[in-house]
Amino acid sequence: MERFSCEVVAVGTELLLGQIVDTNSSWIGEQLALNGVDSYFQTKVGDNPERIKRVLELALDRSDFVIVCGGLGPTQDDLTRDVIAEVMGVELVTDDGLVERISAIFGNRGREMPLNNLRQAQVPIGAEALSVMPGTAPGLKAPIKGKTLYAVPGVPWEMKQMVLEEILPDIRTKAGISSIIRSKTLRTWGDSESGLAEKLGNEIERLDRVGGATIAFLASGIEGLKVRLTVKGDTEPEVEEALNAEAEIVASILGDEVIFSYDDQTIEEVILDLCREKGLTLGIAESLTGGLIGSRLTSVPGASEIFKGSIVAYSTDVKNSILEVPDIPSVSQEAAEAMATGACKALNADVGLAVTGEAGPEPLEEEVGRVWMATSVGGVVKSSTVKWPFDRERIRQFTTITVLNALRLRLEKET
Ligand code: ATP
Ligand code: MG
Repeated sequence: MERFSCEVVAVGTELLLGQIVDTNSSWIGEQLALNGVDSYFQTKVGDNPERIKRVLELALDRSDFVIVCGGLGPTQDDLTRDVIAEVMGVELVTDDGLVERISAIFGNRGREMPLNNLRQAQVPIGAEALSVMPGTAPGLKAPIKGKTLYAVPGVPWEMKQMVLEEILPDIRTKAGISSIIRSKTLRTWGDSESGLAEKLGNEIERLDRVGGATIAFLASGIEGLKVRLTVKGDTEPEVEEALNAEAEIVASILGDEVIFSYDDQTIEEVILDLCREKGLTLGIAESLTGGLIGSRLTSVPGASEIFKGSIVAYSTDVKNSILEVPDIPSVSQEAAEAMATGACKALNADVGLAVTGEAGPEPLEEEVGRVWMATSVGGVVKSSTVKWPFDRERIRQFTTITVLNALRLRLEKET
């Protein structure tokens, strides 16, 4: 079977200067690999028409498909559209359908459309706008000498939607690729990436020998450590079955302690579901996370039935007066436990959790990174401590997921 290849060109001087990291190319590269499309080159090029042209011509010479991202915006320094017309040797013409679509978007937002945006309604003769258009910047699809060039905006979420919904299906059809790829993510907390890799070592080795699935680890901050299983096959049921079977094997190796959910379900959704199931309300006292835990919980629709509130008790004063924490060092086991009890009482909640700690970078009495977390379930308060070797932001993030996971385990076992 003939093999087809696709390469990626990222446009933007800021990419060359290191002002933004080119995550678009790596994401597209990953998607191409998942879809069985070979990819041999990725290029970054600055906002210069001559150089963009050279890069596109070279890419079209050596690959069957080219995806160019960035420089499709409405301003004068967005050059990609003009250069594509030049490479095709044609003029740009205004696409009336696009004018309508773009003005409709501005209309919906109750805003006047800047005339600049009309630039984005221009399409090289012979090319067409992509039908998927999540923002105000249309993507392009241009046939050039038997090859296909796709142009997408640099904004990651717009780019991703176009690639997933339109470009990859188009490439797969043109390249005659019929296999399908699905993945399933096990979301974990409580073990390190190397710890997980070690536990799964034998299974990874077995899969290397017999195939069937691949396992990848993805550290995702507050979202936990993801273990992603990917299976490729010919039919949907076959792939689903293999994926579920593999997920069961991996889950049994890792255990329920570390797996808090699957796929898109977040730890805060898990907590709210557990509380709802058991008819419990939740109250929080946060010092070092300054409202981050409450913010995560309120991002879930329907949280108000369960989540009573979060008291951001940052100063000792507030800890004393509102949470009735006695006069003790504020980063301590006793303080965390008293805060959890205080939160339940002040907020009239069945279940409570509290965090206090030293996020740095200026060390106070305690060492930087020292965190105390407490949970109150059924009136019983339990606590634990960690000393994170991280920067302020990561300390706050990891504390949030750690205390929510501790609460999950207690809700699962004790209620
Ligand atoms: P816009 O309509 O926003 O101008 P555009 O197609 O002109 O879209 P750019 O101006 O190149 O896109 O980039 C817009 C933003 O998208 C950048 O400021 C940056 O945040 C992000 N971005 C652009 N290229 C990349 C890339 N290769 N990887 C990650 N992010 C990118
Ligand atoms: Mg731009």
